[in-house]
Amino acid sequence: MKRIGLLGGTFDPVHVGHLALARAAADALKLDEVRFIPTGRSWQKDSASASGEQRLQMLRLAVDGRANWSVDEREVRRDGPTYTIDTLAELRNELGPQVSLVLILGSDQLRNLATWHRYRELLDFAHIAATQRGSHRLVDFEPQVAGLLDEHGREALPDAPAGTIVFFRMPPVPVSATALRAALARGERPAELLPPGVLDYIDRHRLYRNPNETA
Ligand code: ATP
Repeated sequence: MKRIGLLGGTFDPVHVGHLALARAAADALKLDEVRFIPTGRSWQKDSASASGEQRLQMLRLAVDGRANWSVDEREVRRDGPTYTIDTLAELRNELGPQVSLVLILGSDQLRNLATWHRYRELLDFAHIAATQRGSHRLVDFEPQVAGLLDEHGREALPDAPAGTIVFFRMPPVPVSATALRAALARGERPAELLPPGVLDYIDRHRLYRNPNETA
């Protein structure tokens, strides 16, 4: 059964942590494809500092040249709030029942899962695969997520379209978009933390600058 990994996020901007996450998930879970799905109007974070179009452009640079990676624009294009459950339902509808969908999450997101819209139904459409990120360990979850793990947690992904939660390992990559935006606003140039071409794009579009900067 074909396995498609889905990596949602704000990607404001996309950074090497996201690429490492996609690579680790693809290797560990034997994914045939990874689709990056930037959020539209984010319902949990403050307004993104780059526009949807700019976040899409930076992601396109990041996936450039990788045959099995792509950018899914639907959430940026959607009017109103964007919910992962709607995206999964649409993808399932488009791809049919015989494909395995795997929602890839850092542990910070898994810990948060019970705040997502219709979070229990996510597993009707996809598997969830999570990995540790920073200090957000994959233990001691709040009751709702712990309950979901008791019911759906497995050691490995089965050959099934949806319905299980698995963990996978990745070497830690201590970078976040928040820290990157702060570094850029201070005038730093953290090229090694960004995919090729993304720092140039940020410069050209004057993104993430300190608003008090006059240059
Ligand atoms: P912000 O700092 O603005 O919250 P972010 O760096 O967390 O942004 P997102 O776009 O929100 O980036 O993250 C998308 C997904 O990638 C989430 O599942 C998140 O857990 C995961 N992720 C982001 N950075 C890393 C990292 N360094 N290592 C592992 N997973 C990561």
